[in-house]
Amino acid sequence: TSNSAAAIRRDFVQYFVDRGHEHVKSSSLVPQNDPTLLFVNAGMVQFKDRFLHPRASSSGRLTSAVSVQKCMRAGGKHNDLTNVGYTPRHHTFFEMLGNFSFGGYFKETAIPLAWDYLTAHLQLPKDRLMITVYETDDESYAIWRDKIGVPESRIWRLGAADNYWSMGDGPGPCGPCTEIHFDLQNGLDARDPERYMEIWNVVFMQEQKVASSSGQLSLAPLETKCIDTGMGLERLARVLQGKASNFEIDSLASLTAATAAAASAASQASGQLATPPTAFLNIVADHVRAASFLIADGVIPSNLGRGYVLRRVIRRAAGVGLQMGLKKPFLADLVPVLLASTDPTFYPEIFARQTEICAILKQEEEVFSSALHSGVSMLNSEIDAAVQRKQAVLAPATVFRLHESHGFPIDLARIISTQRGVSFDEQAIEQMVVDNREMTRQRSRATGSAASLLTNANSKQETTQLKEAIVSCKALGLRS
Ligand code: ATP
Ligand code: MG
Ligand code: MG
Ligand code: MG
Repeated sequence: TSNSAAAIRRDFVQYFVDRGHEHVKSSSLVPQNDPTLLFVNAGMVQFKDRFLHPRASSSGRLTSAVSVQKCMRAGGKHNDLTNVGYTPRHHTFFEMLGNFSFGGYFKETAIPLAWDYLTAHLQLPKDRLMITVYETDDESYAIWRDKIGVPESRIWRLGAADNYWSMGDGPGPCGPCTEIHFDLQNGLDARDPERYMEIWNVVFMQEQKVASSSGQLSLAPLETKCIDTGMGLERLARVLQGKASNFEIDSLASLTAATAAAASAASQASGQLATPPTAFLNIVADHVRAASFLIADGVIPSNLGRGYVLRRVIRRAAGVGLQMGLKKPFLADLVPVLLASTDPTFYPEIFARQTEICAILKQEEEVFSSALHSGVSMLNSEIDAAVQRKQAVLAPATVFRLHESHGFPIDLARIISTQRGVSFDEQAIEQMVVDNREMTRQRSRATGSAASLLTNANSKQETTQLKEAIVSCKALGLRS
């Protein structure tokens, strides 16, 4: 239909091509020549150099572009992994629609363009859009109020946390932004931020963070002011399709439905009928899509960096599947469902590598299945006991033990116990892991074994992940 995610994707590109933008294909999810970034997390990443040196890199060509960029936010500055399933608007993998100007048009054109696309072209009701601007950006404020005619009550000035965008924590282009939010009219007060869903971010790339020789970051103006915009395709589709959650749009609903059907078949077979929790269906749909796109871009499961994120999403999906009664590998069966809603002209790689995607998913599920099976059942009996004792919080040591001796992912334990109504002391568990890591570090420094691996990990997060991975592999007998 005309509101399908596939139709919106094509329409967005056409709108900007009609206005002189060059259509640039999505880059790989794996950043090219950018070791500072785990995954491409926004449309601007592939254009980073053009923002920094517009003249040198464009050679007069390409002053404006439009793209639909594959994004992954499961690590680094922008990390939505633990949001997935629990907010109706976050995915790990999503598609970002964006138009860009490299030293061409700036605010006075970018703002009216975005407004025209939403309200004239797509005919979204103007009174359901809300605007935020950076607190000191009077220019943007004036454009919205005087040129576009948005009432002052619908323009909010916000600080850097919301309205100043950077790609990552390190050096790179950045700038203040203005954002368009959709009024969900969900019964909340008009001043409550939860009432709105952010749909489009229009960034005024005009500065960059530069590192001095001592590593200190400072701000410097860019050679030329640029425009970088990003709008989540899934969020826009949700608005246009009138759905309450991103996971209900056509391209994701087919995945949650297929997962629900598989879970219900499995639970029927075992005689225990249960309705799978929506969060679980969302997690599986998100993670199988993310894993497929990562594999198509050449990431393979491993114990480090990108490969470890891939491994982690596969294990989380398999783990919640198990909790829904899906005891056999099932993720590969969802790949045809994913393909059915994927546009081959935009993402030929998914079709070209479907055999490999299925094989890797199945292999990962099989490798971890016995550890997951025993971990999930041990966790469930610990939760049973806690419920019986009317304990609201699961003993931190229980989760820590499962994690240490069975390689059971802590976040999977959180997902399962939360669903069963028993919370756990995240901080205490984290502390146990940290203490234990320190102990391991000291011990391995003495033996020189895992120490080199640990120092190779280039961030605190990666160290945690690595630790988790080493432990789980030990538990599975994969590493000595
Ligand atoms: P939020 O505040 O909702 O987490 P954000 O401010 O982190 O979003 P930006 O970095 O501004 O998002 O990215 C630009 C656009 O990409 C957002 O306006 C939104 O439409 C979309 N987007 C961002 N993160 C996600 C996500 N995890 N899943 C789906 N869409 C996303
Ligand atoms: Mg965010
Ligand atoms: Mg935001
Ligand atoms: Mg934003």
